[in-house]
Amino acid sequence: MRKRALAAITLLCAVLAGCSSNDAEIETTENNVEGAFTVPEDESLPPVHVLDDKYRTTYEIFVYSFYDSDGDGIGDLNGVRQKLDYINDGDDKTSTDLGCNAIWLMPICPSPTYHKYDVTDYKDIDPEYGTMSDFEEMVKECHRRGIKVYTDLVLNHTSTEHPWFKEAKEYLKNHTDIDSKTEEECPYVYYYNFTKEQQTGYERLNGTEWYYEARFWSGMPDLNLDNEKVRAEISDITQFWTDKGVDGFRLDAVTSYYTNDNEKNIEFMTWLNDTVKAQNEDAYIVGEAWTNSSIYGSYYASGIDSFFDFDFSGSEGTIAAVARGKKQPLLFAKEMQEEEKAYASYNDFYVNAPFYTNHDMARSAGYFTGRGTEQKVKMAGALNLLMGGNAFIYYGEELGMKGSGKDENKRAPMQWGNGVVNSDSADAVESEKIKIILDASGMTNGPKDMEKFDMIYHGLDQQLFDKTSIYNYYKKAIRLRNTYPVIARGNTQPVEVLSEDKLGAFVKYKNSGLSSNSEDYIILDEEGNNIGMNGSVKSALGITDPYYGEAAVLVVINNGDEAKVIDLSKWSGTGDDPELSFDLETGDEAASLEGTNLTIPSYGIVVIK
Ligand code: CA
Repeated sequence: MRKRALAAITLLCAVLAGCSSNDAEIETTENNVEGAFTVPEDESLPPVHVLDDKYRTTYEIFVYSFYDSDGDGIGDLNGVRQKLDYINDGDDKTSTDLGCNAIWLMPICPSPTYHKYDVTDYKDIDPEYGTMSDFEEMVKECHRRGIKVYTDLVLNHTSTEHPWFKEAKEYLKNHTDIDSKTEEECPYVYYYNFTKEQQTGYERLNGTEWYYEARFWSGMPDLNLDNEKVRAEISDITQFWTDKGVDGFRLDAVTSYYTNDNEKNIEFMTWLNDTVKAQNEDAYIVGEAWTNSSIYGSYYASGIDSFFDFDFSGSEGTIAAVARGKKQPLLFAKEMQEEEKAYASYNDFYVNAPFYTNHDMARSAGYFTGRGTEQKVKMAGALNLLMGGNAFIYYGEELGMKGSGKDENKRAPMQWGNGVVNSDSADAVESEKIKIILDASGMTNGPKDMEKFDMIYHGLDQQLFDKTSIYNYYKKAIRLRNTYPVIARGNTQPVEVLSEDKLGAFVKYKNSGLSSNSEDYIILDEEGNNIGMNGSVKSALGITDPYYGEAAVLVVINNGDEAKVIDLSKWSGTGDDPELSFDLETGDEAASLEGTNLTIPSYGIVVIK
């Protein structure tokens, strides 16, 4: 049992429940009066067991909208650094942080756009975000907290404002034809894909007879990744950031490296993976292949660690469908199992990259309507975090932020506060750490073309103190992931005998690394071997592994509107003495286990060990 001493925070808010306007009257008081803000504690939770490997919980940050340190309304790297304690304070014994242990920064290099996915200099920091020394300081502070830093690597295209493209354009303006001298006179002509034929995905180079490949937008010319000089530039770029302390990369738009040519994409990613791993053998790389799992699954052949698991993501993915009650939780388990087998067939060392939402998708708060909306928003977050691999959370997802329609709306300012706990009242908070986490004075303005809209749920300033908030639910779900390493690292085995329409059960198990008690270690692989699925097995639960802790846990999900009772002894792997070890509830009702009879509330998730 861990003990945490957190400052109780007492604030009097005139109208606690519905207080959302900036002019809400706030008074601070010494007394613990009605509506006082206190940080919820849950002393019953088992201790965390965080392993230092690639199976992390990664927080995706759009720096522009995260936190502003210098008052210009634009988020910056110093702002990210100031808020690192929100993500992870580096102390596993505290529970004031989210518990994520990696960040992915969307592009930070100089760029003419707010989103910065069109780079003009791959080896610098956009002045809107700060300086290279700000970046180095941020990386240092991340590493001090055990947070890995992954940066966005946009290699499919540059900006038309990149000097390479500008030089190529200038050359082609003065040369109707290219010949054997061109390579020497202007090698940048071959950095891109120029042609005189008009084709799909090509744009006219103004003032010339030339067209250039630009699959996304005329401002984003595609690089010629076959060119050895371009590959040499890329190698320099990854070495540069590796030297700056970056722990890995998120690869933008990998299906577009070679449009409609998966074989070439895999060939290029194999080269890229080998190049980066030669520079840092521990580097982690995750690719964005916005397609279906049969394609991005095959990309694992490249050796790239991870690909985002798009099949499970977004408003129509598996996660949302289960949260909505339209898909059985057992199918969630079966789909995970199928993917695990498929990905492993390409690369034994694959690390799945589940995510629920990202900066290109409408935010989760808008996915559900009617009764149980908040429960569904919460459960969806937990389903993502129950998946194997390195799980990603998009900033603000943990607050139930809203945003849909144009891209700018999906990248709204992080909702540190909506005025309920302002910087004055934060004086009443005793803990310096919570004061900093709560400080909303650097709320950003967000992208200029973002539409005006109201959030559905409160900002962090209220959610932090509300035991039933989406934020505290997410934090507990991350805690669950950090408690049982087998959840992120194990294989999935659906348990049909414990499942019904709105009730699903599955085992997460890891069979590598035998315990000393090997006679009882009966969790074997699923290919015909026994993991406790039939009567010949003594028990699957209750076995521990020296490295992973619990070698197997049973997860039960109720995505229905009513509580359910189930007899766990129907599954032989339960053993004689199952223990309800973690209870993730979306409402006030808690789960209970009497003998082998499990009661699980509506929209509840439990872990039995
Ligand atoms: Ca700023």
